[in-house]
Amino acid sequence: MATLKAVRGTRDLLPPETALWNRIEATARDVFARYNFGEIRTPIIEDTSLFSRSVGEETDIVSKEMFTWQDRGRLRSDHAQSLTLRPENTAGVVRAYVEHKLGDAGQLQKFYYIGPQFRRERPMKGRYRQFSQIGAEVIGPPHAGSESPLRDAEVLEMLATLLDELGINGWTLELNSVGSAADRARYNETLRQALIPVAPKMCEDCQRRAVTNPLRVLDCKVPEDQPIIDTLPKIADSLDDDSKSHFAAVTAALDAAGVPYTRNHRLVRGLDYYTRTTFEFTHGGLGAQNALLGGGRYDGLSEAIGGPKAPGIGFAMGEDRLVLTLQALEAAKPEKADAYIAPLGETVNAAALALARELRRGGLTVELGDGSFRLKKSFDAADRTARRIIIMGEDEVASGILTVKDFSTGIQTKVPRAELAGVLKTPGGK
Ligand code: AMP
Repeated sequence: MATLKAVRGTRDLLPPETALWNRIEATARDVFARYNFGEIRTPIIEDTSLFSRSVGEETDIVSKEMFTWQDRGRLRSDHAQSLTLRPENTAGVVRAYVEHKLGDAGQLQKFYYIGPQFRRERPMKGRYRQFSQIGAEVIGPPHAGSESPLRDAEVLEMLATLLDELGINGWTLELNSVGSAADRARYNETLRQALIPVAPKMCEDCQRRAVTNPLRVLDCKVPEDQPIIDTLPKIADSLDDDSKSHFAAVTAALDAAGVPYTRNHRLVRGLDYYTRTTFEFTHGGLGAQNALLGGGRYDGLSEAIGGPKAPGIGFAMGEDRLVLTLQALEAAKPEKADAYIAPLGETVNAAALALARELRRGGLTVELGDGSFRLKKSFDAADRTARRIIIMGEDEVASGILTVKDFSTGIQTKVPRAELAGVLKTPGGK
């Protein structure tokens, strides 16, 4: 029988790498809590129209990457409903905001989420069909201050803090404004005109986009198209005064907070719902898939899915890519256990379990060997997994004095059981 494997584009996360995932999530939760964000958990399955109405029909995500199926229900009379595994989480968060009438509170709502997303992309390093995003959203009625450029700057400053606290050095913040819906419509028309003479020389995707959604041409990665794209009009020249002053206020606040950024005129992002501020944080260590995270403002999204006016701003970071970046930076050495207990002979196994219980309850990380192992085998196993080995034979059980060897110093000492936990807690050992 053929062996079964994880589905293409999905993978198992195994220890010790999962410890890094947990550390990233713990750091993110800690930072979000300090900025007063609360966690939201929305369903993985949503009605397909949520994504076509928000992310946009013409985007790569909706036009070719979603895992969608017709769900028939169990009764003949049930209507078939088109369902989709969520390809991103902002749409689900805004749906929940509308569904639970969270705007009625009159306050800004600040959410974060951590969870899997699904896109049928061509898998490669850093790009998967099931991947995890850590994201946050600030949304609320305009009178709660949801349109303020200060919110944009605060979210960007929070991201800079989060990446710094994760130990991700060397990130770049790329920033742009795609203006209001009206600015974008104007720019789309300007681009459409500018593309008429040059589109025939461009890739097939761009030829199609030049007609259906000219803005998307700026996302093109085909090398031969790049010189042509560089000559196209810039969106900055199509912004109205309000969008310009919004952007200026965002950058002024970033300057005041000391958060560095560069302006990228082509950053229009792959989702239709963005307005005004758009951004990406990139990292050189990631190769072709260099975007750590992306986000922006989405002032019309709530209305697009039938909700009240509820401007907002948010981002999603690729957790898989955070892991890859940290591994590349070698900031992610797996932690070793505090001690490995090596019982000498099976008669000592039970006493060894009792000692392990005592130490673990005292907060130490302990690996427990087995009395059937020869001493050499115990030493090899201990050296791989722990910083010290505790040798426990019948003499040690009787005397209550244990032999402890510290692998980093090579020093072996006799330690009374009552002092053991204290010795194991000292970082360098005794
Ligand atoms: P997006 O929702 O497309 O704005 O993506 C936000 C972030 O999610 C990106 O910057 C990536 O870090 C991550 N991401 C998006 N698609 C994938 C994928 N297929 N595999 C891994 N990470 C992804």
